[in-house]
Parts: sequence; structure tokens; C-alpha cells
Amino acid sequence: MQLVCLDLEGVLVPEIWIEFSKRTGIPALSRTTRDEPDYNKLMAFRLDLLRQHRLGLPDIQKVISEMGPMAGAKDFLDALRCDYQVIILSDTFYEFAMPLMAQLGMPTLFCHKLETDANGFLVNYHLRMPNQKKEAVQRFKELQFKVIAAGDSYNDTAMLGEAHAGILFHPPQNVIDEFPQFPVTLNYDQLRCEIDRASANI
Ligand SMILES: [Mg+2]
Repeated sequence: MQLVCLDLEGVLVPEIWIEFSKRTGIPALSRTTRDEPDYNKLMAFRLDLLRQHRLGLPDIQKVISEMGPMAGAKDFLDALRCDYQVIILSDTFYEFAMPLMAQLGMPTLFCHKLETDANGFLVNYHLRMPNQKKEAVQRFKELQFKVIAAGDSYNDTAMLGEAHAGILFHPPQNVIDEFPQFPVTLNYDQLRCEIDRASANI
């Protein structure tokens, strides 16, 4: 049995923090681990900023819902789910992703969790475990699944390497250069072709 594991942001939906930052006009929210490598500090900074701007979870979800998935994402995913078991592995949070999952027909998503206070403000976050994308693929292999994984960025490369076949989707040039072993796809037709090709070879 073959399983396709897909990254979420940059593959099916926009980068949530960056798009959220644009839509709310709060540039500091587009800071990433490139700007602040300490993820704990980065998240504390983001949660503080949201509270300063009086943005609680319902406000945040409304903005995220308006982003919508990337053009063609739902059709790609619907067709893929007809032929494969598909699991989305993401480092985002359920509370952020759900408005977008609803627009994608509620595919299976494994990601992290946020904690809110009684007023709906985000107060903390809970990561499932370190390196959960790679760990999940490893567990699926132990369950005797053949795994094809696709993602767009550096934080997917461990998952791609762990899978029986790894595919890059619209990656930045530095990732292409550093990981020449993974085929590069630039649109959903190419990605689907590469998944089918991998499926025939694993
Ligand atoms: Mg991504």
C-alpha cells in the first residue's frame, strides 16, 4: 500500500504567517526562523505581537479563512486522494490550518496545537514532538507502507530523505542546490507525474 505525505504551506496553501502578516499589515509577523533561529523565542514574539494587536483566535481564523488554498490545490488533492492514501504533515497548528482544511475537503492533517485563554488569546503552543514529519514517515514505513513525500522547503528535506521517494515542489534555489537527489516539480501537473513515476518504481 502506498502513502503520499504532503507538506502543507507552500504546497497546498500559502505560507500562513507571511500571508497573515500581509493581510493584517503587521510586518513583524513575517519574521521566520531565518531571522530568529530560536523557535521558542520566535513563537513567544509572535504570540505577544498578536495580543498587542488584540488579535484573538477567531480574528486570526477569519483572516486565514480568507487566504484560501493555492489555485488548483483542491483539484490536485481530490484527484490524488482517489488513487493514494494522502496524509498532510505540517509544522503549522490545527487552529490555524482548519479554516483552510475545510476548503480542501478535510484531508487528514498531522500538525501541532495551540493553547488559548478564556478570552481567545493565544497563550502557548505545543509541538507534538521534534522532527515530527520525518518521524511520522519512519512510523508509516514500520507499518509496511511505501511512502512518497513532497515538500517545498528546507524543513521537509529530512522527511523527503526518510521516504522511499522524495519530491521537491516549487523549492527555493538553495534547497535545489543542496539536495540534487530530489526531483524538482514546479506545478501540480508535474508533481502528480512525479508521484506516479515514483509509485511505479518503489
Ligand atoms: Mg512548506
